[in-house]
Formats: sequence, C-alpha cells, structure tokens
Amino acid sequence: MNLFDLTGQVALVTGGNAGIGLAFAKGLVKSGASVAIWGRNEQKNADALQQLHVLGGNAAAFVCDVTDEEQVLKTFDETVAHFGRVDSCFANAGGSGKAGMLHKQSTSDWNNILNLNLNSVVNTYKPMIAHLLERKASGKLIVTSSEAALLGMGYAAGYGTTKAAVMGLTRALAIELGRNNIQVNAVLPGFIETEMSVDTSSAFQEAARRRSATGQIGTLEQMEGVAVFLASRHSDYMTGQGLVLDGGHSIHPM
Ligand code: NDP
Repeated sequence: MNLFDLTGQVALVTGGNAGIGLAFAKGLVKSGASVAIWGRNEQKNADALQQLHVLGGNAAAFVCDVTDEEQVLKTFDETVAHFGRVDSCFANAGGSGKAGMLHKQSTSDWNNILNLNLNSVVNTYKPMIAHLLERKASGKLIVTSSEAALLGMGYAAGYGTTKAAVMGLTRALAIELGRNNIQVNAVLPGFIETEMSVDTSSAFQEAARRRSATGQIGTLEQMEGVAVFLASRHSDYMTGQGLVLDGGHSIHPM
C-alpha cells in the first residue's frame, strides 16, 4: 500500500503551468490526485497539461489571473464544476516584482507586488475556505512563501514583505480553521531553478550555491514530494507551519 496515495483527491495549483507549481502538480498526479492548474497564459497551460497527461494524470487547465478577484471566483466555480470538488489548494502563483531600493519604487510598483504575492493568495483562499466549510469537508491550504520570509532580501523589500505576510496569514487561518479539520501550511523554497529565478544575476546564483549547505541549487523534482505530503492525511497534525526547502541556505552562517 502506498502511504501517500492521493487517489480520489482533487488538488488546485495556481501558477501550475510552470516552475514550482508544475512540479507540485506533477508530484500530485504521480500520487493519484486529480489536478487543476491555473495560469494566465493559455499556451503554457496547454503545454503543462500535456506533461501531466503524459504522466497519466487526470488534469485540467484554467486561464485565470489570480490578482483579479472576479476571475478567481469564476474560475473556482469552473474548477468545482469540472472535478466535483477541491480538497487541497496550493496558492503558488507569484513573482519577484521590480528590484531596487524601496524609496525609488512607485506606489504602483509596491501595490503590484502586494497584489501578485499576497492579495492573490487571499483571493484564492476565500472561495476555497467557503467551499470546504459548505461541504463540512476536511482540506488543505498551502501557500508558496519563500526563504525570503526569513532572510533580509535587500532590493526586494516588496517580495520579502509579501512572503513574510503569507506566513502571518498561514498562522491566522490555521487557528480559524483548525476545528474544521482544515490544515493551513506554507512551503518556503530557497533558490530553485525556474523562469522566475533564472532572471537573477550569476553572482546571486553563485552566492545561493555557496551558502547552501549542500553546495547546490534546488531542482524542480525536489519540489514534487512536499506537495504530496502537504495534501495527504500524513500532514494532518501539522498546521500553521512552514516547510523550508533550501538545502540549508537559511541556516548557513556566511
Ligand atoms: P515561474 O515564473 O516559473 O512560474 C510562475 C507561475 O505563476 C507560472 O505558472 C505563471 O503562469 C503563474 N502566474 C504568475 N502571475 C500570475 C497571475 N497573476 N495569475 C495567475 N498565475 C500567475 O516562478 P516559480 O515557479 O519560481 O515561482 C512560483 C512561486 O514560488 C512564486 O510564488 C515564487 O515567489 C515562489 N518561490 C520561487 C523561488 C525560486 O527560486 N524559483 C524561491 C522561493 C519562492 P502564467 O505566466 O501563465 O500566468
């Protein structure tokens, strides 16, 4: 018997057409879950869907901008109409925002990163929570934070602020929903090679490698299993927490 068998479970992954979200989706379908992936780009959705189908997964893709609350509500309804229900929700879509010193950023730069990495999570969680409570069902809410929630990320104040803010949200919702058997947790990846991180300078990448205890940057494959654990009943006694997957980067002294 597979300890982490998710057969019959339905998972939703925002930003599931690329990078870490697609890795989560792959892990989930490999464990038998049906998976809905959301992203803005139709072609990326189609390409990712094909990869999930090759793995034998029951998956569907939906075009949705998670910064737009109306689109999220509509797409959530479409997802439930397609799969019948959602058991676990990975609020993973996000991005790095504009780099630079805070005082040189415009108000709209600041609001954009808050919308992309924080308000989008609230937009996604609200219909998910209502859906679970209406069904009196147990469930899982998981957000992709970052080790930027733990470290000082100079020149990325907006990014670090949003990734720390979602940890506060995680703890608050864990308390609000704990008696309903809904667990709320976060994943805090270190440097993982994706479209988002590939934009960083080679000096930044080299520093990430040097400070990692393993001497290596994380791979997407290493992100698959954590999604399975957090969607499974084996994480039922874990809530309000963050799992750091950073090769020891955040505990390295220099
Ligand atoms: P990618 O750029 O590879 O993927 C981002 C994903 O989010 C894509 O699927 C993209 O699809 C989607 N997306 C972006 N904006 C929106 C939006 N407004 N609405 C819906 N979907 C959106 O990035 P990563 O995989 O690297 O990042 C995923 C998460 O992991 C982010 O929250 C990021 O902050 C976090 N993270 C990444 C780390 C890394 O080293 N890579 C480290 C720590 C955390 P589309 O373009 O089609 O909308």
